[in-house]
Amino acid sequence: MQYLWRARPQGLPRAIKYCGRCGRKTEFYCSNSFRVNAQKKTLDVWLIYKCEVCDATWNVELYSRVGAGTLEKGLYEGFLKNDAALAARYALDAAFLAKNGAEADMDALPFEVEGELPAPDTCGAQVVLECAFGARLDRLLKEKLCLSRAAVQRLMETGGIRLAGETQKGIKNLRVKGSVKITLSPAALLAPREAE
Ligand SMILES: [Zn+2]
Repeated sequence: MQYLWRARPQGLPRAIKYCGRCGRKTEFYCSNSFRVNAQKKTLDVWLIYKCEVCDATWNVELYSRVGAGTLEKGLYEGFLKNDAALAARYALDAAFLAKNGAEADMDALPFEVEGELPAPDTCGAQVVLECAFGARLDRLLKEKLCLSRAAVQRLMETGGIRLAGETQKGIKNLRVKGSVKITLSPAALLAPREAE
């Protein structure tokens, strides 16, 4: 039997970038609102962030001078009504923020990992772990297995947590963006029972 675990973010990551008003790097939060400028059938669209410290606005460009009719269906309405799910689509995309000169602080983003835990005596439990936002594997497993980060790292070293069918190189620093298949030994599964 194969288990499916899915990480769901709780909120949106802060974007770390230089704030001109503060004169240093600060954290910006996503305001969940868009700014839309419509001029002669062309649109400019931005997603609005605010500096956590001084409230300065940072407009992240989404579209510039694009034909109003060329946007994907529903997108324009989403911008106009400040659709939170639409804002999250951008705000959870680290590559999108990087392209705009900011770093998504994924390591501080709280999340839940949904999915059934295998019984602790399961030998070599196969788990497909999905995470769309690029969290660290050790952090995801720490949360799901109720282990300390050191314990997760130790299990990775001793083969208690393995990447299925792949070299184990880099497992300790792996980020999951998409999905990863892992194998868990009984040693990795015992701790959560103890914590319950
Ligand atoms: Zn600031």
